[in-house]
Amino acid sequence: MRPDYVETIYSRSIYTVLIKVLSFSTAWIPFSVAECLLVLFAVWILWQAIHGITQLFKKKRNIRNLFTHCVVNVLTLTSLTYAINIFLCGLNSQRMPIADTMELDTSPASSSELKALCVDLITEANALREKIDEDENGVMRLKYSKSKTLSRAYLGSKKIANQYSFLSAGSCNPKAVGMSSLMKFFALRGIFTPFTGEPNVSLDLPPAAIPFVTAHEIAHQMGIARENEADYIAYLSCRAHPDIDYQYSGAIEMLKDLLPYMDGISLKELAPSLAPGIKRDLAFNSSFWREKTTSTKQKVRVKILRAHLKVHDTMLKLHGEPAGLKSYGMVVDLLIAERRLKKSASEERLAKVAPTSPLND
Ligand SMILES: [Zn+2]
Repeated sequence: MRPDYVETIYSRSIYTVLIKVLSFSTAWIPFSVAECLLVLFAVWILWQAIHGITQLFKKKRNIRNLFTHCVVNVLTLTSLTYAINIFLCGLNSQRMPIADTMELDTSPASSSELKALCVDLITEANALREKIDEDENGVMRLKYSKSKTLSRAYLGSKKIANQYSFLSAGSCNPKAVGMSSLMKFFALRGIFTPFTGEPNVSLDLPPAAIPFVTAHEIAHQMGIARENEADYIAYLSCRAHPDIDYQYSGAIEMLKDLLPYMDGISLKELAPSLAPGIKRDLAFNSSFWREKTTSTKQKVRVKILRAHLKVHDTMLKLHGEPAGLKSYGMVVDLLIAERRLKKSASEERLAKVAPTSPLND
């Protein structure tokens, strides 16, 4: 499929209308409609299983017939869900890459560029961290409640939606997920559900992550399907937000994505310049995901988690992201490209100011 056709015919036309209709129809409901539908679906599956087993015992059905019935139902439901998903948002993964739309140069970065970006992000995050509230352990505390933080997300996303015409603004109705501990079990921070147009966010997250995750799911709602691009749009949204919590969350999440790309020498050199508060927030984030539990429970969790990550990786590849899970970290390419653009713009400005002929004494 040609990305320019998808961009014009679907992403900037059909999807713009679709997401408005979907998101505004669920925005007024105070809870996650997607989560309710998921629970109802689970109940329906359970009821179907009990009904099937009862029929088996009453000899109204044999095991072969029941098995065929189950396979047909599962295949029909999966194909239907997949087709609706593709129509409602999956096509957005085939649209023009935002690097092309925003005219960004994403050629491979040199180690000096990575280091310079890291210095910039550390400077940005250090300055913001000074204004952040802390709990008794010196870890970031959100200024507002978690729910209110979610409800204020529109202040950033509205600004960037006005700035970039390729973003389709929905109702911006992020919903807190009730089953947040289940999401934590599967290492999920948020999910955008195209069926209801809702950005869903887990509240069982380190405070420093909540604003950024909310902005990331809203970026999906705005028509950005690729994970690295959604991260970049989320960062822009956080940077444009009036709340320090959002700004800091965006900066620290970008730092987290960038650090694995840095070589050992640069890391050793730059680590001392990180503010102590940022180090505490990063340490809290690591310990949060290394839940202390019994070894058997932990082993089961690791197995389930590995299977889930494999499925997630495959789903991303099926949706046109060849890098799969690795695509999350690829936001660094866009950050480098943005830095290059700023640098060349300032050089251009300097060239305009600089005299074109020799000055007379
Ligand atoms: Zn995402």
